[in-house]
Amino acid sequence: MIKVTNLRKSFNDLVVLNGIDLEVKDGEVLSIIGPSGSGKSTLIRCLNFLEKPDAGLIEIGNARLNAESCTRKEIQQLRSQTAMVFQNYNLFKNKTALQNITESLIVVKKMPKKEANEIGMELLKQVGLESKKDNYPATLSGGQQQRVSIARALAMRPHAILFDEPTSSLDPELVSEVLQVIKSIAEMKTTMIIVTHEMDFAREVSDHVIFIANGNIVEQGTSKEFFNHPREERTKQFLKHLG
Ligand code: ADP
Ligand code: MG
Repeated sequence: MIKVTNLRKSFNDLVVLNGIDLEVKDGEVLSIIGPSGSGKSTLIRCLNFLEKPDAGLIEIGNARLNAESCTRKEIQQLRSQTAMVFQNYNLFKNKTALQNITESLIVVKKMPKKEANEIGMELLKQVGLESKKDNYPATLSGGQQQRVSIARALAMRPHAILFDEPTSSLDPELVSEVLQVIKSIAEMKTTMIIVTHEMDFAREVSDHVIFIANGNIVEQGTSKEFFNHPREERTKQFLKHLG
């Protein structure tokens, strides 16, 4: 499971995370929503130390780390527990779809190439891109690139997958194919944290939802509670403006 306690992060004088607590049980999906600039990206980037938190206890799978006093080894261990899917895909441009997926298996996990390729092909199939295995990212649509990047995240069999607005860079007609893939892996009981602006998707795929604003959790609840009966005025306003 994932447990975060009193996570704090400032950029100079700007307090971005003002003591965030959250928990995600194994196999569950947590969505994080909130206005632009509210610290959603900073929050999930702190979970793998892409941003170094100022303080907080982070527990993910086999890793447990106190941000104020942690070793390089603890950071590595923490990073090995998650894989991240970015808004802009971040694929290796000089590698094919299949190579993008197998790279970490071969280099980090020291897996024989043949075995890595078998896993890679299985994952490409899972995201509906078997026929694109030899394509370079530039020859794939945004939706296809994002599906490769999801397959790459799955390849490492992480304890959890972190998504930062996975569909925000996509043309509208390509959004649903990516959301469909994320839904299908949620159904396989993959633990996930998803930052998203897609409220219908968040409602459908999440077990729990957190709404953050100004560095604090304004409201949290089960997906049903949160969307059907928001309690806080700030949440109601946010949902109204999107709907
Ligand atoms: P969100 O993802 O919710 O839109 P972010 O986490 O990206 O918000 O940003 C939260 C706030 O922190 C914003 O005011 C942003 O300008 C600021 N911020 C984010 N990253 C940095 C950084 N590396 N240096 C300085 N300020 C940053
Ligand atoms: Mg963001």
